[in-house]
Amino acid sequence: MILTNSKIKKIKLEKIFGSNVFHIKKMKKYLSRNTFKAYLTSLAEGIPLSLEHANEIAEAMKNWAQKKGATHFTHWFQPMTGFTAEKHDSFLQPIATGIAITKLSGKQLIKGEPDASSFPSGGLRSTFEARGYTIWDISSPAFIKEEQSTRVLCIPTAFCSYNGEALDKKTPLLRSMDALSQQVIRILRLLGNTTSKRAFSTVGPEQEYFLIDRKYYEKRPDLIITGRTLFGAKPPKGQELEDHYFGSIKERITSFMAELDYELWKMGVSAKTRHNEVAPAQHEIAPNFENANIAVDHNQIVMETLKKVAIRHGLVCLLHEKPFAYVNGSGKHNNWSIQTDDGINLLDPGTTPHQNLQFLIFLVTILKAVDDYADLLRISAATPGNDHRLGANEAPPAIISIYLGEMLTSILEQISNIDSNDLKNKNFTISNTSLNLGISTLANLPRDTSDRNRTSPFAFTGNKFEFRMVPSTASISAANFTLNSIIADTLRIIADQLEQAENKESKAVEIIKDIYKKHKRIIFNGNNYSEEWKEEAQRRGLPNITNTVDAAKAIIAQKNIEMYERVKVFSKKELEARYEIVLENYIKTIKIEANTMIYIAQQMILPAINRYINNIAVSIKNLKEVNGDFSVQEAILKDINQSFLIFYEKLQYLKDKVKEESTREFADTYMHATFLRDEILNKAMRDLRTITDFLETRVEKEIWPLPDYVDLLFRV
Ligand code: ADP
Ligand code: MG
Repeated sequence: MILTNSKIKKIKLEKIFGSNVFHIKKMKKYLSRNTFKAYLTSLAEGIPLSLEHANEIAEAMKNWAQKKGATHFTHWFQPMTGFTAEKHDSFLQPIATGIAITKLSGKQLIKGEPDASSFPSGGLRSTFEARGYTIWDISSPAFIKEEQSTRVLCIPTAFCSYNGEALDKKTPLLRSMDALSQQVIRILRLLGNTTSKRAFSTVGPEQEYFLIDRKYYEKRPDLIITGRTLFGAKPPKGQELEDHYFGSIKERITSFMAELDYELWKMGVSAKTRHNEVAPAQHEIAPNFENANIAVDHNQIVMETLKKVAIRHGLVCLLHEKPFAYVNGSGKHNNWSIQTDDGINLLDPGTTPHQNLQFLIFLVTILKAVDDYADLLRISAATPGNDHRLGANEAPPAIISIYLGEMLTSILEQISNIDSNDLKNKNFTISNTSLNLGISTLANLPRDTSDRNRTSPFAFTGNKFEFRMVPSTASISAANFTLNSIIADTLRIIADQLEQAENKESKAVEIIKDIYKKHKRIIFNGNNYSEEWKEEAQRRGLPNITNTVDAAKAIIAQKNIEMYERVKVFSKKELEARYEIVLENYIKTIKIEANTMIYIAQQMILPAINRYINNIAVSIKNLKEVNGDFSVQEAILKDINQSFLIFYEKLQYLKDKVKEESTREFADTYMHATFLRDEILNKAMRDLRTITDFLETRVEKEIWPLPDYVDLLFRV
């Protein structure tokens, strides 16, 4: 439904928000006191609900959903494809011929058994034992999805195999949140906090996307099939004027955004900011932050809704990381912090010396974790699409480093040079401010000064970290279960050390000094795009992993398997499966792109160039007949024929390589993926594109069979 003006006037924000969510307030209304209490206990302590209570909740959920017009329910889950999956079941249950009741049982609510054989499992589940289970994630509320005239109740679930192995993106996230909570509480207790019971990672993802006109999209098989343009000459204007960033938003786009927000609000997604991004036709939406598992669910909903609403406005939303060459691609900024159940943001520097110390402990933990596991963070952000951004000349680079800002770095530097026992009396001079850790505070320090270093892949922004490498198409789960896991495991090491110490505070200072000295190489406050940084990073021994195939190795590196097993997020077997899935996905993606290129080149572009050549030939012939001058036509003909020949050779070459790929035996998936990367993507496909893009600039626009970058980027 497109929002009309009269409808917009009637929107009451608070009423709309969450109206399609079975949230806690509604549960309270629909449930008996007893069951509601049982639910809250389950939620707080992570213990399973009894069947009796589950039955009541299911019945209530169904009644509420039916009132809202829902006829079906689905276990909504996030398989390894990175998308969401659903299979609709109607509430109807026949009791006699022609007579039925509606029902949703506790069992149906808690556990589903979809035929799961077609989802990627990396060999965790052979097809003959196809069973997979979906298990209700009671911490993420059920919601109703509206699609034209249908309403479906969506129950967020985790998806695992018969043996309990994770087959999805959600299970490891939930496990990592538990691991993080345990270690955070340990540290807090050791530092004297007696009140907090649990800690949660909080996440606010900023999502970038492109909007193009649907009529052009429909004429681009590359966009339809692969999500990105495989051909396309550089437009006369790109993003160099930077006139699009935060620019005033076109009316057509504003009305799209208004409806997007409206749809999201109904599903309880608190879409907060919207603006134009750097590249033409590029935009961004950011929600308010929430607990990581809900943020992950909500980001999936955001991506789905972006696509759906765009279509209603005659637009198409492109989520691909690099839909267009020559202009910036899209990513997600994953804002991440840790918050206790009693509302303390542990990355907030705080207002007392004690809080400062605690903050610094968490800060250095993150330095160490990111340095020790940079390879895991890198793979958490790797997709074939993102390879076109990371490591190419745009934000952010493939080298992981942390931006802390001059001031925080300087504080750590100074702490690292003093005697631990002396800390409380020590004055630090930072910029023009004098700061005494004993009496003063870090409170108003970083927030004001942590000026945005836009080039850093991992930046401290006052009271949270912003991981900026995350791919725009991907689920943000991997980024967050990786952060949670590596930080949980590093906190464990620190908690072990603190436990042994008599004087916790001076031990804490010692730990801060120690970690800073060992891991300061990960801090970089300068320009991450510069060539000098690449050289400097190499001197510091920081890895520069430019592509998914190389990054994947981290998943099965011994140190990483051990870490994931320690925090109980993945078993070795699960990691080996994930490694296979990443590479298989890479292989399939590049193969599809190569085949799409051949299809377009052969069946669309080749005949078009031929038609153009023919037109020139005809005009030469005609000019000859009237004794006219045809020297220009001849020059053009010669010129274009030369390029046409190269085009034809490059096309043949790509076809040969694709054929070779399909007939050759590879030692393993890694070698297979390497072939696709080096021989097909980075050579055959690249060369064909170069000559084709050149030809595009030589052939009459009316004849060229694909809408060009001007159409795609500027005619929206
Ligand atoms: P910026 O100034 O970086 O744009 P914002 O406050 O606008 O900062 O936040 C950007 C994103 O970071 C938003 O999605 C916001 O919800 C999220 N965010 C803010 N605080 C936190 C936090 N403590 N934990 C996780 N995400 C947060
Ligand atoms: Mg930001």
